[in-house]
Amino acid sequence: AAKAAGKRQWRLYQPVLSAGLMRRREIQEALEEALATSAFSLVYQPIVALDTGDLAGFEALIRWPHPEWGMMHPGQFITLAEETGQIIAIGAWVLRRATTDIVRLRQAAAPPGTRHAATEPGPLTEDRPAGNRDLWVSVNVSARQFADTRFAGTVRQAIAASGLEPQAIMLELTESALLRRDERLHSELAELKGIGVKLAIDDFGTGYSSLSYLRDLPIDVVKMDKSFVEGIADSDQRLALAEGIVQIARTLSLDVIAEGIETEVQRDLLSSMDCHYGQGFLLAMPMPLTEAEELARNGFTASAPVPAPRH
Ligand code: C2E
Ligand code: MG
Ligand code: MG
Ligand code: MG
Repeated sequence: AAKAAGKRQWRLYQPVLSAGLMRRREIQEALEEALATSAFSLVYQPIVALDTGDLAGFEALIRWPHPEWGMMHPGQFITLAEETGQIIAIGAWVLRRATTDIVRLRQAAAPPGTRHAATEPGPLTEDRPAGNRDLWVSVNVSARQFADTRFAGTVRQAIAASGLEPQAIMLELTESALLRRDERLHSELAELKGIGVKLAIDDFGTGYSSLSYLRDLPIDVVKMDKSFVEGIADSDQRLALAEGIVQIARTLSLDVIAEGIETEVQRDLLSSMDCHYGQGFLLAMPMPLTEAEELARNGFTASAPVPAPRH
């Protein structure tokens, strides 16, 4: 008890430290408390169909608003949470939250192909059928989470609790999560496919995977890493590489989401190479659920201001 009191005393004079300097133990304890009090939150970054410019889905991105340290981004705590195993409980929370939220987002959304701009406000009527059942939410899954034997059960439970169609969930697995070349990898992916969720390879091209992953694993979507989007406007070689990724994916009947689109030229080039979907600060910033609902309801309107980065 004396030790705890002493620590509290010391904390009074503790200067604001960057996350990098804070002791791991301190972050670990704070994560434990955040788990106990559900102190995390999710922001949603829109994913856009590049041919029509319409909203297609959202990626759920975790945030940890800490009373002293400010807004903690995943880069500041996910690696530690993976090392301590806390990612398993955090990931289960993310899945529950995201499945609950996509139910709301789908209800708020206009049916595909219709646009409800500010000129069409008001409650839903029979003329205006509710919902967009194509809208999905992408959830990031770390390697440690995916390796946990309870993972598929967690996914199944989250879906059952929300009453959601499983296709509304896309699980984003990194190449490192798919690195285990054992029998369990195939059976676990098959189990997830059996549940009916969509599977994506995240940050494609940055890890150690090879093209055989795309051929051999039951993947639906390739997320082309932003390093492949960068520079496509400036270099023919980079442009050709991005185009190659899109073409290979198309040949294998996989959809492609290009990450990190920051300029109009990048968007137009990706669109002209028939890349299906795009995501990036140019198109939309990650936003809280209420704003995501608003966007689902109204679509991208010409009058909507470009949102400032706030999260
Ligand atoms: P990711 O899955 O590749 O997510 C995309 C990251 O790129 C997000 O950063 C997003 O804010 C950022 N981003 C989006 N558009 C642009 C752009 O145009 N330019 C640039 N420079 N960046 C852009 P964030 O939210 O900081 O997340 C970082 C990483 O943390 C994610 O990368 C993902 O691997 C991980 N992560 C996020 N949420 C979760 C989660 O709930 N669970 C797990 N296990 N990992 C998560
Ligand atoms: Mg991701
Ligand atoms: Mg990614
Ligand atoms: Mg990435």
